[in-house]
Amino acid sequence: MKFNDVEFDTYLKKFPDEKGYFGKYGGAYIAPELKAAMEEITQAYFTICQSRKFIAELRRIRKEFQGRPTPISHLERLSNSLGGVQLYVKREDLNHSGAHKLNHCMGEALLAKYMGKKKVIAETGAGQHGVALATAAAYFGLECDIYMGSVDIKKQAPNVARMKILGANVIEVTHGLATLKEAVDAAFEAYAREYKDAIYCIGSVLGPHPFPMMVRDFQHVVGEEARAQFLEMTGNIPDTVVACVGGGSNSMGMFSGFLNDPVEIIGVEPLGRGPKLGDHAASLKFGTEGIMHGFNSIMLKDENGEPAPVYSVASGLDYPSSGPEHAYLHDLGRVKYDTIDDDEAIDAFFKLARMEGIIPAIESSHAVAYGIKLAKERNHGSVLICLSGRGDKDMDYVLQNYKIPENK
Ligand SMILES: *Cc1c(COP(=O)(O)O)cnc(C)c1O
Repeated sequence: MKFNDVEFDTYLKKFPDEKGYFGKYGGAYIAPELKAAMEEITQAYFTICQSRKFIAELRRIRKEFQGRPTPISHLERLSNSLGGVQLYVKREDLNHSGAHKLNHCMGEALLAKYMGKKKVIAETGAGQHGVALATAAAYFGLECDIYMGSVDIKKQAPNVARMKILGANVIEVTHGLATLKEAVDAAFEAYAREYKDAIYCIGSVLGPHPFPMMVRDFQHVVGEEARAQFLEMTGNIPDTVVACVGGGSNSMGMFSGFLNDPVEIIGVEPLGRGPKLGDHAASLKFGTEGIMHGFNSIMLKDENGEPAPVYSVASGLDYPSSGPEHAYLHDLGRVKYDTIDDDEAIDAFFKLARMEGIIPAIESSHAVAYGIKLAKERNHGSVLICLSGRGDKDMDYVLQNYKIPENK
């Protein structure tokens, strides 16, 4: 399928280009001492992703350890309560460890193993990426260093406990505001020291080349499975595909399965408390072109051009930019990006729990809320939503901050 002069039959092979660009977005804006390390990862990845042994091993792990393929569920009760539109969810909440993140962590850790590395290094904010990577490291017998700000360590006690039980070293970062940004810096510094024995594992389609490409490729299984399953279930491909966009990994995985189809694709960003800078994290909607964390994309900036403070009720979505491929698909118009605010997301959280028996992550609730919105506006059609993760991690927060709806 051709769209605005871009041929999507061959898109996944052609993008990014060999320097890691999707149009003008992407690249690798990194310190000279890390250039060789990134080059080593890129070369290893290109060799390995064509190796039958690597592909077979990853396939086996997905089936026997992660429990893939995850199913698609038809939300019959919810759909019927809204009108004629039929809503479906791809159940990444049923992927081992409860979210899509393990899809790329297992790929990255398997790559580390093939490269002969002994250790994986990453930062984590809310702890979701840290837990997924600690899971992968335990599976492969790799050491795992997770850098985390002391503020986040206090806030995310259950995830810190999980990482420790899984055998990861949680390394406290105390300087500056002691949150995600400082943790990123500390993890990168550690990697620059240890890259001979370690590999850095990014938690989304972010960072310098080759990470946006690698993480997309590892998440592609979501869209690939979903397309085949949906066809088998309904005899058709969906009219619309929806996913939430933080850094953009679950959405890129899902979207990459449908880019070459006549399917409407919508990425949902968090509007938080509203459109004022600082109250949301809708970078594609409100941001401008800029470079941060090693790549060029569309980002939210403060008055000094630095990454702006962002907010969302979903801690997995509050990042001041999105992956470069999203910026490209945004400018191209192939994917439409829209927003859902905190209250709409929480409303969808309860609706899915009460009408379908699925407690979604608050991140995923943004995508569900958008599906609900479409079902209210339209009379017919099918909407496939990526349910990126389960909501167990969010229950305490929801109970403390929101009122449970009355039983009718
Ligand atoms: C981390 C996370 C997200 C956001 O990350 P993306 O890279 O945008 O997918 C969304 N949902 C869940 C459940 C997460 O854990």
